[in-house]
Amino acid sequence: MSSGNPAPDQATGEAVASCPECGALHIDGLTCWEQLGAILAWEWQDPALQAQHFLTVASYNLQHPAQFTDAALAGLRALFVEHLEQGTGIAEVRRRVGSLAEGSRRVLKPERERRPVLRRWRLTVADVYQAGDSAGAAQRVRDWAESVREELSE
Ligand SMILES: [Zn+2]
Repeated sequence: MSSGNPAPDQATGEAVASCPECGALHIDGLTCWEQLGAILAWEWQDPALQAQHFLTVASYNLQHPAQFTDAALAGLRALFVEHLEQGTGIAEVRRRVGSLAEGSRRVLKPERERRPVLRRWRLTVADVYQAGDSAGAAQRVRDWAESVREELSE
């Protein structure tokens, strides 16, 4: 499948849209961004999932790097790896994410400079969303984050 060509749906033969950057298929008409929103909404009912909030957002952002400046991306990636490998406390992560995010002009590239490039990943947000089944989502976030860490270091 080449970049930008939607995959045909097995059941209906209709084209299924996918994200031009992370490659996640749209599910139930939801883009990958909307699937992320649904997962974040589950956190209200699921403390185990809420505890993985940083990994959920970081995994998503690392699979959508075009919007970020190089410096912001490097900072996020370092924090992400450190959190996974050394279990950096969530309070420390929050503090540093806060300083990373303050002043959005330093974190986000101007829209005209963004160049999304399609990259294939073993797991994407669609594998966590799993057609809206929230059971076990916290573990799926861990698996997703670990796969992102591995593939970023390849
Ligand atoms: Zn995407």
